[in-house]
Amino acid sequence: MSHVAKRSSPPAPVPADWTYASAPESREIVSLRERYGLFVGGEWVAARSGESFTTISPRDEEPLAEVAQAGAEDVVAATAAAREAFEPWAALPGSERAKYMFRIARILQERSREFAVLESLNGGKPIKESRDVDLPLAAAHFFYYAGWADKLEYAFPNRTARPLGVAGQIIPWNFPLLMLAWKIAPALAGGNTVVLKPAETTPLTALLFCDVLRQAELPPGVVNIVTGDGATGAALVDADVDKIAFTGSTEVGKAIQRRLAGTGKKLTLELGGKAANIVFDDAALDQAVEGIVNGIYFNQGHVCCAGSRLFVQESIAEPLVDKLKRRMATLRVGDPLDKNTDVGAINSKLQLEKIEELVAAGRDEGAEIYQPPCRLPERGYWFAPTVFTNVAQSYRIAQEEIFGPVLSVLTFRTPDEAVEKANNTPYGLSAGVWTEKGSRILWMAERLRAGVVWANTYNRFDPASPFGGYKESGFGREGGRHGLEPYLSFEE
Ligand code: NDP
Repeated sequence: MSHVAKRSSPPAPVPADWTYASAPESREIVSLRERYGLFVGGEWVAARSGESFTTISPRDEEPLAEVAQAGAEDVVAATAAAREAFEPWAALPGSERAKYMFRIARILQERSREFAVLESLNGGKPIKESRDVDLPLAAAHFFYYAGWADKLEYAFPNRTARPLGVAGQIIPWNFPLLMLAWKIAPALAGGNTVVLKPAETTPLTALLFCDVLRQAELPPGVVNIVTGDGATGAALVDADVDKIAFTGSTEVGKAIQRRLAGTGKKLTLELGGKAANIVFDDAALDQAVEGIVNGIYFNQGHVCCAGSRLFVQESIAEPLVDKLKRRMATLRVGDPLDKNTDVGAINSKLQLEKIEELVAAGRDEGAEIYQPPCRLPERGYWFAPTVFTNVAQSYRIAQEEIFGPVLSVLTFRTPDEAVEKANNTPYGLSAGVWTEKGSRILWMAERLRAGVVWANTYNRFDPASPFGGYKESGFGREGGRHGLEPYLSFEE
């Protein structure tokens, strides 16, 4: 009887509202210093000029610490330390280099909560992303490349791999620790030493990482961290390095390429994107909506491979956009340190202004805007998740990288048209295809000019998988065996 009574009881009511109680992650685990120097030759040193800048939290503009502004002389000292450390490091057996890298990976795992809180505090991304994506992937990159360090002899048949020397690495603010891991791990595995410049707005996890290097007892000078602005990056490009690895804007990437032309220094560039996320009429729509949301609202859209152009087959455009808008209304925008937050703070005032400018251009050009009702915090930098419909391919919001939580929806009728429109961009970093047909996935993947094509998923990363662009999205690959090659020279 009780069994029957249970089965006939009414289903649980569907929640009418998605308000969550706040669930703040404590920031006690992070202890910040008042000021940070440069990490050169395994020591903290002051910038020669004595200059510094304040790094803040974009969630409320709270000053967090004073950070040294490295000048050209400081950069020269850092590259000299890396040069001195190079020969003994390169001479170590690969298995010995791997031990240090495994140690770094394990320490990152052990201290992952501390790093995740600091990443969210300094950069504005939701804690659930820094905790579940940035930190596990950063550790995974060190584990993965540690595994290659003693296999270089076999990895490239009929070629003898040698380290390049000193690598200068310049990284952006959207995945501060993860980009550091993408750059440093393959360089060390290949026997190179490193000078890395983090982005001006997000230096703190790179500085905490210096603590990890000491804990792992990495020989002094193998990794050096110099903080500063674009001028520090430019000084690194001109310094005594054998290679520059850069991730950031296409504009700065091009300037670096011009600067390096004829110098013999090697270069890899990972630049912007304007990815097409393409949904066919046979796709599982609810699943596609999750992929669209993840594609553009993950990390506030501060993602070079963000699915910022949504191409929907015309026959399903209306129901899909309806579903998307309903889903957007459930996104929780707010404090990055709240464990329920889906969309955090915009990284900087400058980036917020850029997003606002492009969104205003979208309205002016005639696109229709939708933003779900949400209350944005009063202090700090915020932008509501946004979708534009009625977008023409010529609009700036369909052409330019916005690097914010802003999606432009366009339509297509045939697969050929989808390919043509998707490829109609100067960029070529990534793309997404949503369809039930396996043959169509392969057909599309062959034709899309993008370094990565995801099928029925989006924003999936794995250290074993190469990542990089075509056209103005740059050249060279990071991740996988391909990601080792730019840090090696070969004797045939
Ligand atoms: P930048 O390209 O300016 O910054 C990337 C890195 O390069 C930072 O460390 C920066 O330092 C440094 N840098 C700046 N100028 C120079 C230079 N002349 N020589 C060497 N290094 C330099 O990107 P922004 O931060 O200004 O962002 C602007 C736009 O770029 C974004 O709106 C977005 O569209 C795109 N972008 C793309 C990224 C990607 O992953 N593909 C990542 C970040 C941005 P500093 O931080 O001090 O300026």
